[in-house]
Amino acid sequence: MSAVLVVNSGSSSIKYQVIDEASGERIAQGLVERIGEAGAGKVIHRGGAGESETQQDIPDHSAGFAAIVEEFRAAGTPIDELGIVAVGHRVVHGGSDFIAPTLVDDAVADRILELAELAPLHNPGHFAAIVAARAVFPELPHVAVFDTAFHQTMPQRAYTYALDRELAAEHGIRRYGFHGISHQIVSRRAAAHLGRPLESLRQIVLHLGNGASMCAIDGGRSVDTSMGLTPLEGLVMGTRSGNIDAGAIFHLLRRGVSVEEVDRELNKRAGFLGMTGSNDFRDVRAAAAAGDEAAQLAIEVYVHRARHYLGAYLAVLEGADTVVFTAGLGENGPDLRALICAGFEWCGLRLDAAKNASAERGARVISADDSKITVLVVPTDEEAEIAKQAIALVASG
Ligand code: AMP
Repeated sequence: MSAVLVVNSGSSSIKYQVIDEASGERIAQGLVERIGEAGAGKVIHRGGAGESETQQDIPDHSAGFAAIVEEFRAAGTPIDELGIVAVGHRVVHGGSDFIAPTLVDDAVADRILELAELAPLHNPGHFAAIVAARAVFPELPHVAVFDTAFHQTMPQRAYTYALDRELAAEHGIRRYGFHGISHQIVSRRAAAHLGRPLESLRQIVLHLGNGASMCAIDGGRSVDTSMGLTPLEGLVMGTRSGNIDAGAIFHLLRRGVSVEEVDRELNKRAGFLGMTGSNDFRDVRAAAAAGDEAAQLAIEVYVHRARHYLGAYLAVLEGADTVVFTAGLGENGPDLRALICAGFEWCGLRLDAAKNASAERGARVISADDSKITVLVVPTDEEAEIAKQAIALVASG
């Protein structure tokens, strides 16, 4: 038996899963929360003896990994007896440096920290977790799997902002795109579900979660995506504005709103949250159904933006074979899917209302039999993809 430990860390949290390589089965999983908050640390662990929750001080990521090792031991499944052959780390920003999963050494870890300039909310936590995990599991290969890497195939015309060339180069300003791990596994699973070669398909993937992005995929390669330099660009999200005129930022700054406040407004207090008071689509949907006009408008804005990109990517790909919905809202929002797809019959996209409304889980087709474009719902599984990529790199020597 061989398994991969998948680590998805933030500045104050570590999510982890142990995934069996052959079956994809979750052997154990858990979450360390509120790292660095005195008296508030918590570890939730599932696996072995069942589920446990322990409160304890967790001053830093090293203490977090020590706590994880202890949870495995307490559950009767010591972590060094699980046949773990690699640790896969999700890393949000790999800049232009990392175009594929990468074996972590000191230089790679340092570069991930340097890239914190482009992802201040994410990369510092990844770095801290990588350093801590390498100290706890020094004998295992550690593989960094980047959210940006899949989009490194975008052509220059798609990733270039129309800025002064020297300014853009000096500051690394270009579109990178995110959610690449999800776009990659979902597009591959959609092809597998249809029994068609990935290389033959033009796909448009809508990853609609709390963060949201769309991707145009030609033959398995990302050719355009809605997020840019940072995960702020593009679609309306739970708490992020998505596209906004950059001039609005200057306007706010000139009116005395600080840089930090503008950053917080656009990243943490905008989107569904800003427009309705809740970042969760279930609340927005319920409020809209009860006649709340702000919630109704928020859904219209959300759908309008997604339809913009759907039209755009039909242009980029010169048509499409599949449109694939994934993540929290994509997998659980038949109402949203119907609104986004409505009016695309002109290009041969027709949903089947009953299939779209079905409560079935798993990968499934929701378009009508005679639809020229096949519409699917495909659950995302970023951890499985990280495990797969980590194993593949390690196996390749
Ligand atoms: P994710 O980031 O993929 O975990 O997506 C989380 C978001 O998906 C939540 O904030 C909700 O807005 C949405 N979501 C999750 N479950 C449902 C559901 N059953 N119906 C509608 N939206 C859902």
